[in-house]
Amino acid sequence: MGSVIGVTATLKEDGEAPAPGEVSRPLGEYVRADLDYVEGVYEAGGVPIVLPPVGGARSAEALVGAMDGLLLSGGSDLDPKYYGEAWLPEMGETIPERDEFEMALVGAALWRGIPIFGICRGLQVLNVALGGTLYQDIAAQLGAEASQHRQTALKWQPAHEVEVRGGSWVGEAMGEAGVKVNSYHHQAVKDLAESLVVSGTSSDGIIEAVESRDFSEQWVFGVQWHAEAMRRVGVEHRNLFAALVSAAENHAVRREAA
Ligand code: MN
Repeated sequence: MGSVIGVTATLKEDGEAPAPGEVSRPLGEYVRADLDYVEGVYEAGGVPIVLPPVGGARSAEALVGAMDGLLLSGGSDLDPKYYGEAWLPEMGETIPERDEFEMALVGAALWRGIPIFGICRGLQVLNVALGGTLYQDIAAQLGAEASQHRQTALKWQPAHEVEVRGGSWVGEAMGEAGVKVNSYHHQAVKDLAESLVVSGTSSDGIIEAVESRDFSEQWVFGVQWHAEAMRRVGVEHRNLFAALVSAAENHAVRREAA
């Protein structure tokens, strides 16, 4: 037994650079999910399934029916058309198939009352799917004081602190008010969706953790840092995965009772 947790994946193009004098090899495209997310779910007692970003709404609907929880992984920037803005020059790479699929996935998961945990891009997708907006580039829109959010240190090393709101789900799960987190984002929440509340901020006011207000039975939460990469160095980060799996188990019980 174990509840099934869908883990979003990305599309990556791969190919080896040709050696001098060699013909370049054809590139392959791959569906790829970082093992840290997949293992994080498994270690917390869940059964991960990787969700390829293919097929948009039709895939999203069918897949959501086969899972008890959803983990939105990190990755490329979300196309600002989803929050009604034109591109700034500082926008990073987008993957249209992934954007379309994940927006549909969040909608379908909310509809079915499935718990959702968003990490980094995942938090941003969650906020936009619920009607919020993003800073397309923190440095361009907020200035250099926000530079602490793009670390060069190794991924399990902290870059800054987050003040977690007492009594929040994220706070309860992590068991601490001040947590040290890594930081690999150049975007952040600008306008928070109405159905979300802030559950953690950094010292410069960037929203680093959110959770739902309207879905009282449904755990919907997100963190801006890569908790999956810090779960071996801090139990508080592992606890976020445990919170998702536990909420997914409760959802499975309710679904079977219905
Ligand atoms: Mn940060």
